[in-house]
Amino acid sequence: MSERRPKIYLNLSFPPLAARYAHLPADGVGLLRAEFLALSLSVHPKQLLAEGGAETFIRAFTEGLIEVARQFWPRPVTYRALDLKSNEYRGLRGGQQFEEPEENPALGLRGCRRYMDDPELLRLQARAVRSVHEAGWTNVRLMLPFVRTVSEVLACREILQQEGLFERGIPLWIMVEVPSVVFLIERFLPLVDGVSIGTNDLTQLILGVDRDNPRLAPLWDERDDAVMRAIEWVARACRESALECCVCGDAPSRRPELIPQLLQLGLTALSVSPEAFERTLQIVREREPGSG
Ligand code: PEP
Ligand code: MG
Repeated sequence: MSERRPKIYLNLSFPPLAARYAHLPADGVGLLRAEFLALSLSVHPKQLLAEGGAETFIRAFTEGLIEVARQFWPRPVTYRALDLKSNEYRGLRGGQQFEEPEENPALGLRGCRRYMDDPELLRLQARAVRSVHEAGWTNVRLMLPFVRTVSEVLACREILQQEGLFERGIPLWIMVEVPSVVFLIERFLPLVDGVSIGTNDLTQLILGVDRDNPRLAPLWDERDDAVMRAIEWVARACRESALECCVCGDAPSRRPELIPQLLQLGLTALSVSPEAFERTLQIVREREPGSG
């Protein structure tokens, strides 16, 4: 697997943009952020459910996903389940009622942990992914965000199993964004079909630097050896398990000079912003044997 050219995927947040970028010779979508889909409903999911809106939620997510899956067919589209933080959910209608203010939302009720408290939220997204597959768009896979522990992945798998995702062969990926997952990566790999490293959160957590604090911006730097070592560790474990290992954080988009080093560490794929795609492709091609 590691001998072939690394894949280059695209990061997308907004399904209508799929039409604009699908012509690029990308290998698929490595990160389709779900947050836009939720924010476009303008209502807190629990408020929507309280109003009997489960079908509205599933329909909106299904339609958004199909829009991307169709544009990129047959290339894979990696749908990342919602990773909204409490402060972001609070801004939605009904949010004040369902979200307690948190001192530190980046370390709060987000990512996979939210699905332990609110399994319904993952269930609805699983139903959307399943209905996308049932409609014939079998190129969509599901990725869990901001994983902290193996038990969270097991609990999410249980929900996905109940919703028939594995029966349909829908691949499950996880994001590696928290150092606990780096250290114990070999325990996660038997549970998943691939991993994608979120260097934005991973850098924040390894270096202890708030990624949203402009005064700390110079310290939030993915080039740090500690971050590189974490990526290398994860890539090696994935290689040993013959699993795909991607980086979908902004590191290769923001810092193209990092790309050769990232590939040297053994990643099998990079997922970059559409604006960074051509440049990334060029750098990857220059590394290919015989490219001069
Ligand atoms: C990341 O943390 O690198 C990532 C891709 O997730 P987000 O930027 O959406 O938190
Ligand atoms: Mg993240």
